[in-house]
Amino acid sequence: MRQQLRRFGLRVWRPGQKDVVDRVLRGLNTLAVMPTGAGKSLCYQLPAALLPGRTVVVSPLIALMKDQCERLSALGIRCAQVHSGLDAASLAAQEAAALDGSARVVLLTPERLDDADWVERLAERPTDLLVVDEAHCISEWGHDFRPAFLRIGQARERLGGPTVLALTATASAEVVEDVARQLGIPAAGCLVAGTYRPNLHYRVEPLADDEDKLRRLLALVTGEDADAGAGASAALPSTIVYTATVKAAEAVHDALLGAGVVSALYHGRLRAAQRHEAQDRFMRGEARVMVATNAFGLGIDKPDIRRIVHYQVPAGLDVYYQESGRAGRDGERADCTLLFVAGTGRCSSSS
Ligand code: ADP
Ligand code: MG
Repeated sequence: MRQQLRRFGLRVWRPGQKDVVDRVLRGLNTLAVMPTGAGKSLCYQLPAALLPGRTVVVSPLIALMKDQCERLSALGIRCAQVHSGLDAASLAAQEAAALDGSARVVLLTPERLDDADWVERLAERPTDLLVVDEAHCISEWGHDFRPAFLRIGQARERLGGPTVLALTATASAEVVEDVARQLGIPAAGCLVAGTYRPNLHYRVEPLADDEDKLRRLLALVTGEDADAGAGASAALPSTIVYTATVKAAEAVHDALLGAGVVSALYHGRLRAAQRHEAQDRFMRGEARVMVATNAFGLGIDKPDIRRIVHYQVPAGLDVYYQESGRAGRDGERADCTLLFVAGTGRCSSSS
């Protein structure tokens, strides 16, 4: 296994990885909870390279599949991606590679896995491992809930009952129990590793009123904030500002533009093309600040986000953990700041 790790260009395991890979190679159903950026992909990539049968990976986002496919191909592991983001010719080629067994890893959407006829054809060749990435999407307690995920258990049976590996960064007890129950993962197979990320610096700032809060936000995103590590430097850091409502996102975005901060806006009421454009501008670093509701962020792999500001109190602790966890994927210091107007910002006792 050490040799395999070297094949992936890595020298040492990160917390949790070895235990997960061990279990998967022994054919034990496993749920791994590891923070964003901790290296969940390796937990299936390495077994995929060793197991005789193929690995099927269910993923909620086309962008994630493309990214994974590129990484696997670079490692010399043949893979196929089957989703609606391909033109007819490449889809046909990818499907052929998936079905004829030449692809070691097949990445697909839960909707495709829900297509019983197609899965029956896939089952003509052995699948040894079924991976559910971003597995909190299975749970009605998970904030990205997708109904097609609910039928993964049935698809697993059609595939001949391969080993299941569920991966998520959401550690709440409800989500873990729900995902484990639906996928037949025993309690002993639920491994929660290293949720603590020492490079993230958390801070809550109570402010006097809305005006004060906006002033503070502007200071944070323009780098006037003296006491934070990511502070005033020539290259201003990438920042996401999360709001709880579309209305607040629009207002904050306007205020930032008014202050001369190049920012992008992302929320569920924009057209898909507008959302893609906003995301691209942020990912390419053209817009330094992204103002968004929680519609933005699942699977965003931008390593150098230095700051996450919550302009309104998020819906829950899990949501907060996911959103703030998008900072500092490169392991460098990042700052997560929650702003609220004292007396009106509700903090329940559970938060
Ligand atoms: P996530 O847990 O968010 O899915 P990824 O699997 O995308 O994280 O991994 C994040 C980064 O960490 C990748 O660039 C990956 O190459 C790197 N990584 C994974 N495992 C290790 C390791 N054992 N040592 C060093 N880097 C690693
Ligand atoms: Mg991942």
